[in-house]
Amino acid sequence: MHELSLAVDLVEQLVEVLEREKATKVLEINVVMGAMSGVERVPFEFAFPVAAEDTPVAGAILNIEEVPLILKCSDCNQETETDDLIMVCPKCNSVSVEIVQGKEFLIKSMEVQ
Ligand SMILES: [Zn+2]
Repeated sequence: MHELSLAVDLVEQLVEVLEREKATKVLEINVVMGAMSGVERVPFEFAFPVAAEDTPVAGAILNIEEVPLILKCSDCNQETETDDLIMVCPKCNSVSVEIVQGKEFLIKSMEVQ
Protein backbone atom coordinates (compact mmCIF):
# COMPACT_ATOMS: atom_id res chain seq x y z
CA MET A 1 0.00 0.00 0.00
CA HIS A 2 1.47 3.25 -1.28
CA GLU A 3 -0.01 5.43 1.48
CA LEU A 4 1.48 3.28 4.25
CA SER A 5 5.04 3.78 3.00
CA LEU A 6 4.36 7.51 2.69
CA ALA A 7 3.04 7.55 6.25
CA VAL A 8 6.14 5.69 7.46
CA ASP A 9 8.36 8.28 5.70
CA LEU A 10 6.37 11.09 7.27
CA VAL A 11 6.65 9.58 10.75
CA GLU A 12 10.43 9.20 10.26
CA GLN A 13 10.68 12.88 9.31
CA LEU A 14 8.66 13.84 12.38
CA VAL A 15 10.86 11.76 14.68
CA GLU A 16 13.95 13.48 13.23
CA VAL A 17 12.44 16.90 13.92
CA LEU A 18 11.57 15.81 17.46
CA GLU A 19 15.15 14.77 18.12
CA ARG A 20 16.46 18.04 16.71
CA GLU A 21 14.03 20.07 18.82
CA LYS A 22 14.73 17.94 21.91
CA ALA A 23 11.01 17.31 22.21
CA THR A 24 9.45 14.04 23.29
CA LYS A 25 6.09 13.88 21.60
CA VAL A 26 4.21 15.12 18.54
CA LEU A 27 0.82 16.50 19.51
CA GLU A 28 -0.51 17.71 16.21
CA ILE A 29 0.64 17.83 12.62
CA ASN A 30 -0.58 19.87 9.66
CA VAL A 31 0.08 18.41 6.24
CA VAL A 32 -0.47 20.00 2.83
CA MET A 33 -1.75 17.56 0.24
CA GLY A 34 -1.95 18.70 -3.37
CA ALA A 35 -4.59 17.39 -5.76
CA MET A 36 -1.78 16.01 -7.95
CA SER A 37 0.39 14.74 -5.12
CA GLY A 38 -0.63 11.16 -5.84
CA VAL A 39 -1.65 10.67 -2.22
CA GLU A 40 -5.18 9.57 -1.39
CA ARG A 41 -6.54 11.30 1.66
CA VAL A 42 -8.65 8.52 3.20
CA PRO A 43 -6.08 5.69 2.94
CA PHE A 44 -3.46 8.08 4.26
CA GLU A 45 -5.63 8.93 7.27
CA PHE A 46 -5.89 5.21 7.97
CA ALA A 47 -2.19 4.57 7.41
CA PHE A 48 -0.87 7.40 9.57
CA PRO A 49 -1.81 5.99 13.01
CA VAL A 50 -0.54 2.57 11.93
CA ALA A 51 2.83 4.05 10.96
CA ALA A 52 2.93 6.15 14.13
CA GLU A 53 2.33 3.20 16.45
CA ASP A 54 5.14 2.66 18.98
CA THR A 55 6.82 5.95 18.01
CA PRO A 56 6.71 9.38 19.72
CA VAL A 57 4.26 10.35 16.98
CA ALA A 58 1.57 7.94 18.23
CA GLY A 59 -1.65 9.71 19.13
CA ALA A 60 -0.83 12.88 17.19
CA ILE A 61 -3.74 14.68 15.57
CA LEU A 62 -3.40 14.69 11.79
CA ASN A 63 -4.84 17.68 9.92
CA ILE A 64 -4.78 17.54 6.16
CA GLU A 65 -5.12 20.68 4.08
CA GLU A 66 -6.03 19.78 0.52
CA VAL A 67 -4.85 22.25 -2.09
CA PRO A 68 -6.24 22.32 -5.63
CA LEU A 69 -4.29 22.03 -8.85
CA ILE A 70 -3.25 25.37 -10.32
CA LEU A 71 -1.84 25.47 -13.83
CA LYS A 72 0.05 28.30 -15.46
CA CYS A 73 -0.27 28.48 -19.21
CA SER A 74 2.64 29.81 -21.24
CA ASP A 75 0.40 30.56 -24.23
CA CYS A 76 -2.31 32.72 -22.65
CA ASN A 77 -0.26 33.47 -19.54
CA GLN A 78 -3.08 32.77 -17.11
CA GLU A 79 -3.05 30.83 -13.90
CA THR A 80 -6.13 28.67 -13.52
CA GLU A 81 -7.39 26.49 -10.72
CA THR A 82 -8.82 23.29 -12.10
CA ASP A 83 -10.53 20.16 -10.80
CA ASP A 84 -9.62 18.16 -13.89
CA LEU A 85 -6.33 16.47 -13.27
CA ILE A 86 -5.20 16.87 -16.85
CA MET A 87 -2.37 19.04 -18.05
CA VAL A 88 -4.36 21.27 -20.41
CA CYS A 89 -5.09 24.98 -19.99
CA PRO A 90 -8.83 25.31 -19.19
CA LYS A 91 -8.85 28.76 -20.83
CA CYS A 92 -7.28 28.12 -24.22
CA ASN A 93 -6.74 24.33 -24.28
CA SER A 94 -3.01 24.73 -24.68
CA VAL A 95 -0.82 21.91 -23.41
CA SER A 96 2.03 24.33 -22.65
CA VAL A 97 1.21 24.42 -18.98
CA GLU A 98 3.19 24.02 -15.83
CA ILE A 99 2.01 23.12 -12.35
CA VAL A 100 2.11 26.10 -9.99
CA GLN A 101 0.48 24.29 -7.11
CA GLY A 102 -0.97 20.85 -6.48
CA LYS A 103 1.98 18.42 -6.49
CA GLU A 104 3.07 19.10 -2.95
CA PHE A 105 2.87 16.70 -0.09
CA LEU A 106 4.64 18.16 2.89
CA ILE A 107 4.56 19.04 6.54
CA LYS A 108 3.27 22.58 6.93
CA SER A 109 3.60 22.80 10.68
CA MET A 110 3.60 20.65 13.77
CA GLU A 111 3.11 21.01 17.47
CA VAL A 112 5.47 19.18 19.76
CA GLN A 113 5.87 18.77 23.45
ZN1 LIG B 1 -3.93 29.03 -21.81
